[in-house]
Amino acid sequence: MIRIGLGYDSHRLKEGLTLILGGVTIPHHKGFVAHSDGDALVHAIIDAIMGAAALGNIGKHFPDTDPEYSNADSLVLLSKTMKLLDNAGFYLVNIDSNIIAQQPKLNPHIDAMRAKLAEAMDVPMDHISVKAKTSEEVGPEGREESISTQAIALIESHG
Ligand code: MG
Repeated sequence: MIRIGLGYDSHRLKEGLTLILGGVTIPHHKGFVAHSDGDALVHAIIDAIMGAAALGNIGKHFPDTDPEYSNADSLVLLSKTMKLLDNAGFYLVNIDSNIIAQQPKLNPHIDAMRAKLAEAMDVPMDHISVKAKTSEEVGPEGREESISTQAIALIESHG
């Protein structure tokens, strides 16, 4: 049995904070306002995986009201999500994802993100696709008020 899941996230940007996407710290004058490390790409991927297995969402398993998850390393939550997926009887086939950001230019960081994600998920790097695009200076992403992310996960049941 194969199944798919969809994930989305959006985080507000603020001057002087750290920008982390796909586990990679990206040099920029703005970063994410968030309870955790604010890694919106990882959050969308977690929701895609949980959605595919109908396990709920990131907030159900890792509530931001729980002090254990304040300043959480999102890659650790991603590793835990893979364990939940395995326990539910599935393995990951592949992930595709988008990052919508006007600035900074993310293409130089894409392969580093894919490597970090693949390591955290314990899958080969070619199972993980990350794409970056601007929103043509339109909307909150285009005004550099936020960065949003989308992910889709394909999973298959064990044996
Ligand atoms: Mg989030």
